[in-house]
Parts: sequence; structure tokens; C-alpha cells
Amino acid sequence: MKQMRKKKILIVDDSEMNRDILTGMLEDEYEIVEAEDGEKAIEIMKEGRFGFSIVLLDITMPKLDGFGVLRVMQEQNWLKELPVIIISAETSNEYIGRAYEMGASDYFSRPFDARIVISRVRNTIALFERDYIDQVTGGYNRKAFIRQVARVLKERETEEYILLFFNIKNFKAINELLGVGGGDKLLQWFYQRILRSKLDPVDMARIESDHFACLIEKKTLDFDYLTEFCDFSYGEEKRQMHIYSTCGVYYIQDETMSITSMIDRAKLAKEYITDEYLKPYTVFKNNMQDTYVDEMEICSEFEDGIAKQEFQVFYQPVVDAKTGKIASAEALVRWFHETKGFISPGQFIPALEKGGYISELDRYMVRKVIECLEQRRKESRPAVPVSVNLSWMDFYDENMLEWIVSGLQCGGKEEKKMIRFEITETSLAAIGENHTRMLMRLRENGAKILLDDFGSGYSSFNTLKDMDVDVLKIDMGFLRTTRPERIERSMSIINTIISLTKTLGLSVITEGVETKEQIDKLTQMGCGIYQGYYFSKPIPVDQFEDAYM
Ligand code: C2E
Ligand code: CA
Ligand code: CA
Repeated sequence: MKQMRKKKILIVDDSEMNRDILTGMLEDEYEIVEAEDGEKAIEIMKEGRFGFSIVLLDITMPKLDGFGVLRVMQEQNWLKELPVIIISAETSNEYIGRAYEMGASDYFSRPFDARIVISRVRNTIALFERDYIDQVTGGYNRKAFIRQVARVLKERETEEYILLFFNIKNFKAINELLGVGGGDKLLQWFYQRILRSKLDPVDMARIESDHFACLIEKKTLDFDYLTEFCDFSYGEEKRQMHIYSTCGVYYIQDETMSITSMIDRAKLAKEYITDEYLKPYTVFKNNMQDTYVDEMEICSEFEDGIAKQEFQVFYQPVVDAKTGKIASAEALVRWFHETKGFISPGQFIPALEKGGYISELDRYMVRKVIECLEQRRKESRPAVPVSVNLSWMDFYDENMLEWIVSGLQCGGKEEKKMIRFEITETSLAAIGENHTRMLMRLRENGAKILLDDFGSGYSSFNTLKDMDVDVLKIDMGFLRTTRPERIERSMSIINTIISLTKTLGLSVITEGVETKEQIDKLTQMGCGIYQGYYFSKPIPVDQFEDAYM
């Protein structure tokens, strides 16, 4: 069972005795924080922002009294919704009436009765949480966020606001890998990270799975900072994991638009990120709406697309720089939709993974690649090895893996040696021991395994200890780094990876090479094989055959 954190209560009263009595009644069930006056209370609430589930508030206090606290809470968006129970000895209608008007939700009269205190606190929190709180992060949910943002925009005076939409890349695989509890921890952690960042959110919420929405003031947005923010390490020293997040940015112009549409626009902008290493965010533009295909549509039109041969295999050459000859190729899928035109894999692959269709696509790719290799053999033309990408989900589809293995067993010896499989290290870690057996069977049947995006994910070096692979593909992220203080570090990591492959007797491919300088540097380090736009983008099979074979 998931371990629940204790909910937090703030008790504000200048009488130490009163605080002690209430703490004594509530501390078994809740974490208690005490404040001896109103000013202190506000300071603590601001510090903890959404951390409290309820405030028990005295009215007559030095410095700032209870009414003052209520007034400040009404002015702060994230405090406005927090339930407050008045605990004053003064219970005249005038007093309590005024507190209710200022947002208090209940009151206790003294002397306190333990049963009544505990039940009212429990009920008030339950009422509040049912509607507004996200159980995982303890912060707002989608509904509360929409409400809050609507309020901020209605009351705004001069500020201009921006809506940000964050998403954690590969969250599904990471969640599989960390287990549900571990995944939840990452979500909590990421939530806190946004909250405490220089983005200084006015309001924020986890609005669904690994999606976070956040309202900020226009003046706090610095794109360099946002770029840095999206790329982070998570976990303790020994089990550190590199995580990328991406962000859609929507400048709010028309306050009459529904908040839901604003969130949709920020989310849509995120789909248009083309190079997440270089620029992990995109700003919404109006024409994006014309070309967007949503996840549901992608899944519902996928099978039709397969039937109509809308999916094509593109090949990207992998080149041996010493000889200038092509060493192998990677098969990458392309979707040319009948009416919608080109849809990028960055958009439809995550959607197909979510919808459970990815294995069908991968199966299709394997079949197409084998057909192509067979064709060339029949015509006695030369061919190079081709790798196809496997998703972690393929390993849960035993039929699919059986199908590939049996294909390898009965197919010609040539194809066996020619088809290779790429799997990312995050996927590999996510599929766990049971399913890596399948991967080993692929290998025993003659297929080579390439470890894709090496260095980008989880415990890279551990993966190598536990798993036999043939080729490492160094993650493009290392070359995409633009922060000066990181470039040198990236280069020395690449250097280490290359010497490691030498020690382990593995081949190594550096992905994403775009310039001659990069190749020169990497060649000096001992890498010889490259894949990247410097040589060629992925191209259709006929062009590939013309140019390279
Ligand atoms: P990946 O496996 O890491 O593939 C490399 C991606 O980097 C490709 O993007 C390729 O076009 C791009 N690339 C290659 N060289 C360069 C370069 O020099 N600079 C830059 N900026 N980019 C370069 P693509 O084709 O958009 O594919 C994106 C991802 O989609 C792939 O990343 C892979 O994870 C996934 N994918 C593509 N095809 C398939 C497939 O058939 N099955 C599965 N499961 N995943 C696929
Ligand atoms: Ca790949
Ligand atoms: Ca890759």
C-alpha cells in the first residue's frame, strides 16, 4: 500500500496553552505547525505554499490579528482556497459572522472537545480535498487550477500572464521502472521543483498524469532559464537518472477565452518541439491549430493508415568516417497521412505508446525491413545491416517477440545477420529481468542489439553490467549541449563512454553529428562510426539505395 504522508495543520494562537491542547488532540493524525501571531502565520504559509490542509486560527492576537490573516489569505491566490477554522474564545455573532464573511469555514468554541475538534477538522479537510487537491502532489488539481487562474485573470491589473504546460519525457517507461510509488515520488518532486523555481508560479497544478500547468507573470519568463530548467537529474548519488521535460508556452492575450482552451494551446505548442535538447519549449502560434492531430485521432486512424500503406520506412545511413563508406542504417518510421499530410514521429509515437498500438507499428517496421533485405538478396545486390527501434512495450507483447524470434529462426541466414534491434537504456531498465530473456533470445538467434540513447537515462553503466549488447549509440543530448559550462563535461563523458566500449569490446556509434568539428573531435577520442545530419537525414528507401548502395 502507498504510504500516505501526514497532512499538515497550521495552528495560529498567541496562547501557548491553547496551541498545546489542540496539538495534543491532533498530533497523532496530523503534522502540526504552530505560529504565535498572525505575521508569523503568513510567513509560514507563504513558505510552505500549498503544504497545509487546514488552518486553525485565533482572532485576537498581537501584531496581525485573525481578521488580518484572513484578509491576507484572500489576497493570495494559492491561500484563498485553504480552509480556516476559527478557534476564538469570543463567539458573538458579530465576530463569527465577520470571520465567515472573510472566508472562514467553521469555528470551535472553547473549551475544546477532542471529539468535536478531530471530526470537524477531518470533515473540513475531506470536503476541501475532494474538490481541489491532487492526491499525488498534495497541490491543486485541474479543477482548482482552472478556478484559480480564472480568478487571477479577472482581478488582474497590469500584469501580463503566461501559461506553461510541462510534461516529463518518457514518463510511462520511467514509471514502469521506478514502480508506481517511485513514479509518484518523481511527480511530487517535479511539482516542488516548479513551485520553487525562478519561474515563481502564481498558480500551478498537476492536471493529469505527468502533465503540469503553471501560470506565471510575463516578466518572470527567461527562456535560457526555462531551457536549463527542463533538463535535470533526479535521484540520489548512486541511482541518478537524467530526465528531460518539455514545455509549451502560451501568452495569454484574450482573457475571455476559457482556461481550458488556454491549457490546450500551451499543450499543443509542446507538440511542436523539434529538437528537445536544443530548445525544450515552443511558444504557441495560431497556425499550430490547423496542423494538429490529437492523440485520440492518431490512435483511431492508425490501423487505417497501416492498411493504406501511409507508413513508410525511411533509412538514415550510419557512416564509417575513416573510409567514408556506409556501415549500416537505422530504419525510422514516417507517416504521410492521406488528408492531414506529414505527421512527425515525435507526435504519433508517444500517442501510439499510450494507446497500446506501438507494437503493431514496430512489427510492421520489422516486416518491411526484412522484405527489403530479402528483395536485395534475391536480386543479389549488396545490402547493409539495418536496425529497427523497439519500444519497451514490445517486451510485454510476447506474441510480437515470439514472432520476431521465429522469423529469425526460419528466415535466411543473411537476414538474421542483417536485422538489428535498438532499445533505449531507459526501456531496457523498464522491462525488467523477466523480459530481458526475450532480448537475449533475439541475440542467441543471431541478431545484434544496439543500446540506444546511451548516457541519457537511468544508471547507464549498470545496464551494461547486467546485459549483453553489441553496440552503444551515444545519446545525441551530449552534442546538443549549448551551455558552455556543460560542453566540456559532455565531451569528457563521451570520451569515457568511448574508452569503456573499447574495454568491453563493443562497437560505438555517435548519433546526431552535424558538423565537421564534432567528427574531428570524436575521431580523436577513438570513435569511428557516426549517424547524423552531417552525412544525411533519414531518406526514403529508393534514395537510400541510389546514394549508398
Ligand atoms: P531515435 O531512435 O533516437 O532516432 C534518432 C532521431 O534523431 C531521428 O528522429 C533522426 O531523424 C534524428 N536525427 C538523426 N541525426 C540527427 C542529427 O544530426 N541532428 C538532429 N537534430 N537529429 C538527428 P525521428 O526519425 O524523428 O525519430 C524520433 C524518435 O522516434 C526516434 O529516436 C525513436 O525513438 C522513435 N522512432 C522512430 N521510428 C520508430 C519506430 O519505427 N518504432 C519505434 N518504437 N520508435 C521509433
Ligand atoms: Ca534509435
Ligand atoms: Ca537515439
